[in-house]
Amino acid sequence: MGSASSADAIRNISRWSTTSTIRPAPPGRKASEEFGSLTFSDEAQRARLPKDVYRALRRAVAQGEPIDASVADIIASALKDWAVEHGATHYTHWFQPMTGITAEKHDSFLSPTADGRAVAEFNGRELIKGEPDASSFPSGGMRSTFEARGYTAWDPTSPPWLLITQGGTTLVIPTAFVSWTGEALDKKTPLLRSMEALSKQAVRILKLFGSKAQRVVTTCGPEQEYFLVDRQFYFNRPDLINAGRTLFGARPPKGQELEDHYFGSIPDRVLAFMMDVERELYKIGVPVKTRHNEVAPGQYELAPVFENANVSTDHQMMTMEMLRRIAPKYGLACLLHEKPFAGVNGSGKHLNWSMSDELGNNLLNPGETPHDNVQFLVFCAAVLRAVNKFQGLLRFSIASAGNDHRLGANEAPPAIISVFLGDMLTDIFEQIEKAGSAKTTKSGGILDIGVGVLPKLPRDAGDRNRTSPFAFTGNKFEFRAVSANQSIALPNVALNVAVTESLDYCATELEKGLKEGKKLAGAVKGLLTKIIRENKRVIFNGNGYSEEWQKEAAKRGLLNLRTSVDAYPEALKPEVVKAFEKYSVLTDRELRARYEVALEQYNKSINVEAQLMVLMANRYILPAAYRYQGQLAASVAAVKAAGAIAKEAKAALDTICRLTDACKIHVDRLQKLLEHESNGAPEKHAKYFRDKVIPAMAALRESGDSLECLVPDDEWPLPTYREMLFIK
Ligand code: ADP
Ligand code: MG
Repeated sequence: MGSASSADAIRNISRWSTTSTIRPAPPGRKASEEFGSLTFSDEAQRARLPKDVYRALRRAVAQGEPIDASVADIIASALKDWAVEHGATHYTHWFQPMTGITAEKHDSFLSPTADGRAVAEFNGRELIKGEPDASSFPSGGMRSTFEARGYTAWDPTSPPWLLITQGGTTLVIPTAFVSWTGEALDKKTPLLRSMEALSKQAVRILKLFGSKAQRVVTTCGPEQEYFLVDRQFYFNRPDLINAGRTLFGARPPKGQELEDHYFGSIPDRVLAFMMDVERELYKIGVPVKTRHNEVAPGQYELAPVFENANVSTDHQMMTMEMLRRIAPKYGLACLLHEKPFAGVNGSGKHLNWSMSDELGNNLLNPGETPHDNVQFLVFCAAVLRAVNKFQGLLRFSIASAGNDHRLGANEAPPAIISVFLGDMLTDIFEQIEKAGSAKTTKSGGILDIGVGVLPKLPRDAGDRNRTSPFAFTGNKFEFRAVSANQSIALPNVALNVAVTESLDYCATELEKGLKEGKKLAGAVKGLLTKIIRENKRVIFNGNGYSEEWQKEAAKRGLLNLRTSVDAYPEALKPEVVKAFEKYSVLTDRELRARYEVALEQYNKSINVEAQLMVLMANRYILPAAYRYQGQLAASVAAVKAAGAIAKEAKAALDTICRLTDACKIHVDRLQKLLEHESNGAPEKHAKYFRDKVIPAMAALRESGDSLECLVPDDEWPLPTYREMLFIK
C-alpha cells in the first residue's frame, strides 16, 4: 500500500499492541451471575408473572400450546416493566428474512397521553404481532407489492433480550415473519415447523421402545470460525468492506503451512476482544464455551454449549452480530466470509446436531454398550438413511457463492455429502448387515501415557475425521460443510425434514412388523439390516480430500455437486418437495421461494464482486502499475542516455508492460461480460456467472497478483496478505 497509509497502519498496530490501550475489565459480577442478566429468562418470568400465566407460558414453550390474548396481555405488561426498569425505551420485533441477515424495526414504548405527557405502553397485541411492512425483503415471488404486508409473530420459545448500544436500550423480541396469507417469509417459521414434525415421528419410535416421552427437540451447537484483521487494513480494502473477502492479493511468504498458529497462544488484543464478546453474549443468554486459534493465521473459533435448535439459531445470529459489533472497539474487523483469503484456510460453521426427549435424554447417545442399545441404533440408522436419501437437499442447504470457494477445495469437506461413522459404529453396522445383530462393541482400550503421575485415559474407538462433511462424533452428528457466515436455520431445516421422513419410515416399518406378530427385536433386526444394505454407500471413513474419493463416490452413485449452481435445483426435486409438503414444513411455493432467493443472492454476490474487481483494477492496481512502468521507463532511458547498458532493467520494464497490458485486457473483458442481463432467467444468468464471469475474474486476479509481486511496496495501494494476516 502507499507509503503513508501503510506506515500509519503499522504504527497503529503497534499502538494497539501496547498494553496501555487494553485495560482488564473492571472486577464485575461473576460470569455465573451475569449469564442471562439481559434476557427475560425463565427466572425473570417466574419472578414477574402470576403463577397461572407463568405456567401457560412454560406450556407454550415446552409443548407448543398457543397463548391466548388475555395471557399475552399480562406477559406483555410484565415484559415491558422488566425492560423499562433496565432502561429500555424501544422495542423491536426481530426477525430473520430469507436473505440470512436479521432485520428489526424499532418502535417506542411511549404513547402520548391526553394531558401532554407520555407513558410507557405495550400490550399483548404489540407483543404477539407486529407489522413491519418490510415489502422490500425478498419473498422469492411470494408477495407482489400490492400484497406486501408482512407480519411478525412472537416466538415464545426464544426469550426476549435487551440490546444495549451507545444510543440506548432496546427490547428485542424474537419473531417469525409471515405474509398476510400465512406463508413463511423467514427462516424461523420453517425451522419451528420442522422441529414439530421431527418430534412427532421420533415420539412414535420412542413409544415402541416403551418410552413415555411426549416431545423430542432437536439440539444444536454451532462452532463459529472467523478471521480478525486490523481495522486500518480493512478500511483500505474496498473488497473486504463490500464483498467480505479479498478479490486480489498475492499469497504471503509466511503462510499457514507453518501451522504454528493452530492452538497457539492468542495475541493479547485478540484475547481481550474475545473476552469482551463472551461477556456480552453471556449477558444476553448465549452460552459460549470454548475459544481458540484456528488453522490459519488470524483465524479463530468460538463454540457455545448446545441448546434447543431454535434458540441456538437465534443465538448464532446474535453471536455473529456481536463479533462484528465488538471488533472495532479493539481496532479490529471481524470477517465471517467463508474464504476471506485465497490460498489460506477458509471458515466454516460446524453444526453439531442431535435429538433429545423432553427429559433430556440424548437419542444419539450410544451408552456403554452401543451394540445392544437398539433404540440408539434405530435413530442412528435413520439419520444415515436420511443423509443418503436427501444428499441433494443437504447440499442445497449449504450452497452459496462464498461456500463454493471452500467446499472441495482440499481443506474443507468435499462437495460430496457422505457420513463418517468411525470404526466403532461402522463395525457394529457391519455385524448387523452380516448377521442381523451385533454382538460386540470395539473399544479403543486404555491410553497409557507412560508417566506414572498422569492418569490413564480411555481411548476413543475411532479418531476424528476432519475431512468428512457429516460426521458422527460420539453422541451427535456434526454437519461440517455449513459455511461461516450463513444462518444455521436452513441446514437445520434440511436435516430435520430428511430425518423426519426417515423416522416416519422406520416407525411405519416397525409398527407394521409388530402388527404382523413380530417381536420388537425381530422387527428392528429386519429394519436395520435393510437400512444398512440400502444406504451404506453414503458411509465413508477415509480421506474426503483425496482424488480417489471423487472416483469412488462416482462409482457409488453419490452426488458430487461442485458448484452452488449445480446444487440449487436439488431443492425442487420431487422427493424433496414431497417431504416438505407431507410434513407441513414448506409448501411447494414456499420452498420454491427459498430456491429463487438463493439463486438471486448468488447472482447478486458474483455481480458485486466482479464490479468491485473492475473498480479496484481501474482505480488502484492499474494506476500503480502505470506509475511504476513510468519510473522504470525513465530509469532505463536515463541509463541509456548516460551511455550505459540497461539490459536487465529493460527486461524488467518489458515484464511490467506485459503484465500491465494483460491486466488492462482482463479488466476490459470482465467489464464487457458484466453487460449481460438476467432478463427474467435467473438460472441461465447464474450459469453465465459461473461459466463466463468467474473464470474472467480469476484471470484478472492472476494478473493483478503478479503485479503485486513486482510493484514496489510504497507504490502498492492495497494492504497485502502479509500485513493483514498477522495480528500483533
Ligand atoms: P467434541 O469433543 O465433539 O468437540 P464438545 O463437547 O466440545 O465435543 O462439543 C462440540 C460442540 O458440539 C459444542 O458446541 C457442543 O455444545 C455441541 N454439542 C455437544 N453435544 C451436543 C448435542 N447433544 N446436540 C447438539 N450439539 C451438541
Ligand atoms: Mg469442530
